[in-house]
Amino acid sequence: MEHTCKVIILGSGSAGLTAAIYAARAQLNPLVIAGSQRGGQLTTTTDVENFPGFAEGVQGPSLMEMMRRQAERFAADFIDEDATAVDFSRRPFPITAAGKIMLAEAVIIATGAGTNWLGLKNEQRLVGHGVSSCAPCDAFFFREKEVAVVGGGDSAMEEALMLTKFATRVTIIHRRDQFRASKIMAERALRHGKIRVLWNTVIEDVMGNGSVTGLRLRNTQTGKERDFAVDGLFVAIGHHPNTELFRGQIELDDMGYVVLKRNTMTSVAGVFAAGDVHDQRYRQAITAAGWGCMAAMDAEKFIEGHDVEHKDAAPEDAAYQDAARQGADRQDRAHRGAAGTVEDA
Ligand code: NAP
Repeated sequence: MEHTCKVIILGSGSAGLTAAIYAARAQLNPLVIAGSQRGGQLTTTTDVENFPGFAEGVQGPSLMEMMRRQAERFAADFIDEDATAVDFSRRPFPITAAGKIMLAEAVIIATGAGTNWLGLKNEQRLVGHGVSSCAPCDAFFFREKEVAVVGGGDSAMEEALMLTKFATRVTIIHRRDQFRASKIMAERALRHGKIRVLWNTVIEDVMGNGSVTGLRLRNTQTGKERDFAVDGLFVAIGHHPNTELFRGQIELDDMGYVVLKRNTMTSVAGVFAAGDVHDQRYRQAITAAGWGCMAAMDAEKFIEGHDVEHKDAAPEDAAYQDAARQGADRQDRAHRGAAGTVEDA
């Protein structure tokens, strides 16, 4: 039999876990479909120095473990699998994970973002054999070796700095002549004795049979190509939102990020979003946590609105009552034949 939850949270990064803590403390008994990469992006990082409350810094995986324990303490449930299907055309919303269909009165999407790859001919073949997107996971394997990092943002600086703990030399390859990274991170990288930079350079391909042996580079100013010997390539050119599952069901922007209509509300009433899945501007663990908190509070209001069947709404609840009414309208439309997709609010 299908199990009905008040709130299902998709994703277990900083946004999802904060939403779980707030929803659990609001006695909504949230179910977190944590995903196969439980803990999200912070589990692939080491030192987190800018999360408030940790004067000496904290390890990314420890921070996520602590957040999860905090949510579990208030009786949040977890399934450590990916959601494989959702249906936002009728409420309660059916969500499929681990071979089961569960129903949710409200859903919080906190699926975060994934790695962007360069798209080189031999890149995917060599992932795990010298090509990586996660220095904290793989740097150890490059002890006394030479590696390259591609990208000019904070991630590239962080990866390069991390790699200096193991590699003999780290070369940052950047397509322009200045970094996008924050000044403090860029300076740390540029000052480091083991790091050098190849400016105005793009990678045409990565070479190697069993493992990476080098890169084919092209200078964007001169057009000149050359081979460059390295044992590893770390790709740090940004991320894309994990929204494939929701395509055609809620409104996404051109880049695939979830579009928020009001506060954390998506184009479907009762479906909320939090963190990197909609936020491509700030993308910090602390901002994602803030969005998670907001989404849980919005979901709580939304559910309360349904529980009282829209009676005696306080003025500040008007938006949520409005959303509830829109949700009912959507259900009607869906039942009249628009199954599978829902129009924008
Ligand atoms: P990002 O800021 O978007 O930077 C991506 C970099 O990759 C840019 O330099 C970009 O070049 C380059 N790039 C993109 N596509 C490329 C391609 N096809 N070929 C070659 N180069 C390409 O991404 P991010 O570094 O992952 O950072 C994302 C957000 O997380 C930022 O807000 C950042 O501040 C934050 N972050 C913070 C920390 C920290 O505070 N410790 C650590 C990591 C990330 P162009 O510059 O030419 O566009």
